[in-house]
Amino acid sequence: MGKRLSDKRPPYRRILLKVSGEVLMGDAAFGIDMATLAAVAEDISSVVAAGFELCLVVGGGNIFRGVSMAGRGMERASADYMGMLATVMNALAVQSALEKKGVNTRVQSAIPMDAICEPYIRRRALRHLEKGRVVIFAAGLGAPFFTTDTPAALRAAEMGCDALLKGTSVDGVYTADPKKDPSAKRYQQLNYQEVLSKDLKFMDTSAVSLMRDNGIPIVVFSIREPGNLLRVLSGDGIHTTIEDRKSQS
Ligand code: UDP
Repeated sequence: MGKRLSDKRPPYRRILLKVSGEVLMGDAAFGIDMATLAAVAEDISSVVAAGFELCLVVGGGNIFRGVSMAGRGMERASADYMGMLATVMNALAVQSALEKKGVNTRVQSAIPMDAICEPYIRRRALRHLEKGRVVIFAAGLGAPFFTTDTPAALRAAEMGCDALLKGTSVDGVYTADPKKDPSAKRYQQLNYQEVLSKDLKFMDTSAVSLMRDNGIPIVVFSIREPGNLLRVLSGDGIHTTIEDRKSQS
């Protein structure tokens, strides 16, 4: 492990980082902002350089969300398949940005697309991780009626990850939406049951339950702040951790 990590660092070696698609659009209303993409790639490459094994799941909300098109009359399953294709586009964008920084990557898609990436094969993905490659999981679960939170949790469990990190544009889990309620307070620590019973909507309940059942901590932090990913993994940056310890909030 790299020298920059402090003694407070949590005992994580292999992590799954979920980057929401929304982050990639930066301050724009849609699509991929190249400067933001490069900044996220820089943060990811510093974590790889520090010795972590890294799996990535990238959302698609910057391009397409099934539920919004379904709300406008499209059949939900078809709209969700389009959303999954958006995650593949983002995965290829992140792969390209990481490889520019010299990070070895593989994209594996839950919906086979042989011409552009590997199909999802668990044992092959594990082998890539052992070889120091970043594995980017695309197309979610390959099934509609989910967001990318649940595939992120599932792949974290399948890959034997020590933690699921959710990189968003908010710096943790709050008592209420901090964008709407200025009195909202950030939790430092929660347990899974608190998240489920308080109905804190930062992640799908199916993903939270899967992490609870497998004892995998969830860490929510802002990936929009440069350098924050490595700080959080060092036990320093602002974040909320969800695991089965007593809540300190
Ligand atoms: N999606 C899906 N099944 C999955 C993963 C994703 O149907 O297993 C679709 C769904 O329509 C979702 C979209 O892909 O809205 C994009 O993912 P998400 O909304 O999670 O993107 P994010 O909010 O992370 O940007």
